[in-house]
Order: sequence, then structure tokens, then C-alpha cells
Amino acid sequence: MKQVRSMMGTNEEDRQRSAIVCEDVIRIFHTGSVRYRALRGVSFTVEDGEKVAITGPSGSGKSTLLQLLAGLDYPTSGQVRVFGQEISDMPEESLVQFRKDYTAFVFQDFGLLDMSALDNVAFPLMLRGVPRDVREDQAADLLRDLGLSAHLDHFPSELSGGQRQRVAIARALIPEPRLLFCDEPTGNLDSSNAVRIMELLAEEAERRHATLVVVTHDTEHLDWATQTLRIQDGMVADSQDARS
Ligand code: ADP
Ligand code: MG
Repeated sequence: MKQVRSMMGTNEEDRQRSAIVCEDVIRIFHTGSVRYRALRGVSFTVEDGEKVAITGPSGSGKSTLLQLLAGLDYPTSGQVRVFGQEISDMPEESLVQFRKDYTAFVFQDFGLLDMSALDNVAFPLMLRGVPRDVREDQAADLLRDLGLSAHLDHFPSELSGGQRQRVAIARALIPEPRLLFCDEPTGNLDSSNAVRIMELLAEEAERRHATLVVVTHDTEHLDWATQTLRIQDGMVADSQDARS
């Protein structure tokens, strides 16, 4: 099996490269005899450490695009390069390794397991064979950083929506991903909580030098974004670069 780390270079080499290059990406779904073009030629570049907002109407292809960038799906044609490495034609087992080494995901419905906040956050480290005391210390530190010191032993059902999303963010951050993908992470929160969670995400991504890509329906609070892409009918309808 190809070794993703060695294929993709050292962290230092990675930093010289664009985090994501998306070139003329097309994704066609076949349902029975129906052929649906969910993405119709999407191109853009994300530099290392950027914070990108993807907006657009429901059904425009935002989630489809995010899945392709995160190595959870293959494009029908076109290329996705992450830190210089083509992932759009990577064999499945290499893609699994790529996701483990490079990516983390935060979803709208939190996706927490039915166990304590501490165990949820420590879980990705357990999968990586980190000893229990080490992973629990790290998880507790991170949860405290995110304002949940009083909730380490709480189960998801004992937490508010905003607290659940903080746990999900801690769980995503703990393996120190280079790329953090979020699909409508504030979609289930009230608006003041939503703004706070988005600021927290942007802050934590920046602190850890992670590249952040967020699908969001909130087009009013995008101050955190270095780049905004509006997707419509499977194409980039508008893009704004706050850095230039
Ligand atoms: P958004 O996230 O912007 O709401 P999606 O990317 O989820 O949109 O979907 C874009 C279009 O692609 C929709 O019309 C949707 O029905 C279709 N689609 C998404 N995933 C699949 C799939 N697995 N099979 C068939 N059609 C799909
Ligand atoms: Mg979606």
C-alpha cells in the first residue's frame, strides 16, 4: 500500500504547497436511469491556513463538494490536489490513510457517540493507540480550553446543542488535522450560539495552523473567512478573497 505521509512530503514541504487545488471538478450521480450533474466544473485554490466559507442554496452541491475535498468521495472527472498530492484517483485504502493523517469532519448533527464528553473527545486517540491516561489528559485539557471543564462526564443527552458542538469540535481537533471540514456546523443552533461556535472554530483552526473549510447557510457572519465561495447549480457563482 502506498504510504500517504511519504507521498505527501514532510509538514515543512506541505506548507510550501497549496492546501487544496480543485480543478474543473465534475460529479455526476446516477439514480436509476436519471443522471444528475451535482457539480459542473468547479475550480478554486485554498492556501495553507486559510479559512474558507462555502455558501449557496440548498441542493446546489455544497456537501457534494466538501465530500470530494475531504477524500470521502471521488469526482466523475477533474482533479483534487491536497498539499500537492492528487487524491481524486487515489486507491481507496490510500484515501483511508490520507483521511486519517490529514482530515477531520464536523457535522450539523454533531455525530457524538453515547458516552461521556471526555470519552468522545479521547476516541480518535484511542483509535490511534494512544494510552488511556495520555489521551484522557489531552481530551480534558482541550475540553477545558473550549469552556467545558464542568462537563467532562456529561453524556450528549445531558448537554445543550452548543455544548454538543463544542465536544464535536474538540473531537475533530484532537488528532491535529491539517484540514478541518465542517458541513453546516451551526445549522442546529440558535443564532447567537451559532456565531459563537463559528468564532470558536475559526480561532481554534488558526491557533493550530489547520486549514478550515466550512459549508454555512449564514451569509451574514463571514468576517472570519479568508475566502468565500458561493455555489449555485453545481458551479462557483461568486468568489471573494478577503486577503486581496
Ligand atoms: P447541498 O449540500 O448544497 O444542499 P448536495 O451536495 O447535498 O447539496 O446535493 C446536490 C445535488 O446532488 C442534490 O440535487 C442532491 O439531490 C444530489 N445528490 C447528492 N448526493 C447524491 C447521491 N448520493 N445520489 C444522488 N443524488 C445525490
Ligand atoms: Mg448539504
